[in-house]
Formats: sequence, C-alpha cells, structure tokens
Amino acid sequence: MLDFVTALWLGFVGACIGSFLNVVAYRMPRGMSVVWKPSHCPKCGHDIRARDNLPVLGWLLLRGRCRDCGEPIAPRYAIVEGFMGIAFFGLAYIELFSGAANLPDALADPVGALDSVVNPNWELLTLYGFHGLLLSLLMAMGLIDQDGQRIPWSLPLFAGIVVTAGLAYECWYFYPERTRNIHVWEWKAPFDALFGAMWGAVAWSIPQLVLRRRSSPAMKRFLRNAAIASAVTGAFLGLRPVVRIFGLWLGGIIAARGLRNAMNVRFSPLLVLWGVTLLHLSLWGRLSDLFSW
Ligand SMILES: [Zn+2]
Repeated sequence: MLDFVTALWLGFVGACIGSFLNVVAYRMPRGMSVVWKPSHCPKCGHDIRARDNLPVLGWLLLRGRCRDCGEPIAPRYAIVEGFMGIAFFGLAYIELFSGAANLPDALADPVGALDSVVNPNWELLTLYGFHGLLLSLLMAMGLIDQDGQRIPWSLPLFAGIVVTAGLAYECWYFYPERTRNIHVWEWKAPFDALFGAMWGAVAWSIPQLVLRRRSSPAMKRFLRNAAIASAVTGAFLGLRPVVRIFGLWLGGIIAARGLRNAMNVRFSPLLVLWGVTLLHLSLWGRLSDLFSW
C-alpha cells in the first residue's frame, strides 16, 4: 500500500514535469522565457487557473476546452503529462523499490518505499532521478522535433555539463556496463559516458554526411535533432546501451510508420526514442544478457 501511494506520488511529480516540458518545448525554440510568465491560452491569452493546471485531470475536467473562450486545447498536453506520469510511476517499482533489479547487476536488495524513506539508499535515489532526468530531456527534445523545430544547443549542453562534470566519476553505478577498454577503474564510467555520447552522435551524423546535398531541409533537421538526442542518451547510459537502443529505435521507427499509415497520426521518431529508452531501462539486465559483446 505504502509502495503504491509513494509510486503514485512520484507519478504525479512526473506528470507535473511533463506539464513543464510542454511549456519548455513550446517556448524554448521561440526564444521565450521558460519561467517568468504563467501559462496562458494561446487563443484568448487568459492565464490558466491553478486548478485547471493539474496535469491530465485539469484537461479532462475541462473536456479539452479553454474555460474562457471555449477553444479546444490540444490533447497532446494531457498525453505528454500522462506518459511522463506512467514512466515515473513504473520506474519507481522497476528501479527504486526493487533495489535496481532492472540493471545488469542489482545495487541493493529490494527496499520498498518505507525503507527508501527511513533508511535512504542514495545510490538508488540518484539513479532513479538520473533516469528521470534523461526521460525528461528526451521528451522535451521529442516535442521540439515534433513541432518541426531545431533543438536549441542549450538543452544538450546542459545535459553534457551535468554528465561530464564529475557525475560519471562520482556515480560510477550509473554505468553498469562500464567500458572494458579503460584499465583505471575510476575512469571506466566517465569514458563509457564519453564513448556512448560519441557513438550516439556519429550514428546519425554519417547519413547526414552521406546525404548532404540530396536531403530536404526537413530531413537535415531531423538528422541533426536525432544526433543530439542519441548523443545525450549515450552520455547518460553508456556505449553498449546506446547501441542496443539504436537497434530498438530503428525497429520502433518502422513500426511507427505502420501506425501512421493505419491511424493517420504522425509522431516524431524522437518520441519513439523516448519509448525505446524507457523499454531499455526496464529490461536492461535481460537485454544485456541477450545482446552483449
Ligand atoms: Zn482561451
């Protein structure tokens, strides 16, 4: 019961982050301030009331319409909040309460919510937060690509600084598949992050270089955004995970194309990356048993 309530609360936090990411994705490429102005209806300009700003529920209670002018509000906002909420809720069980049993090597015995509060395991808590941050960054980048915008440099730069500023060195357990090629133990995790970021960027830069003149502006923008997003994924998870995620991602892109033809919904391949990254986090240990080298 306590586990469930705690997971629900974490899911609510995730949904609130999703709500914030909607704002980030809308304002950042347009050069607007992310924090200084309250959310407002894009049609009539009225500020959104606090009670209507509740993630998912606010949208459902308003039946998807602005309280002031009755204009429809895109369901996308509620969908993003819902997906982020589900991810935080699910990862609480899969990763936080389980002692990181999802990783190739568990960090601790299963702890449950009570133990996390009474006797906090900081490795588990920071791991959960770290993966939550990655999913948040990927969702923001996916929404920006969905809108046909270029990912601003400050986003991946922020991620890059967080990761390389000693995080990998200090928190080696973020990288359970640390590189075998570096022989100084302390540097295994930082180099794994670096190799992961490089591989992620190169995998999408090669088609960019090959196509060069023949690609449309939309294709160029997508390849650039994909290179940035997969570099960030590699920096957060390491080399082998990003290679596996790349494979899952290509499969997911093909599946998403089928879905697009069947249901006539178009969504950015970067949103597919969000999904396959969550899948990989959930099944990390099993995937590393199946595909390792
Ligand atoms: Zn309105």
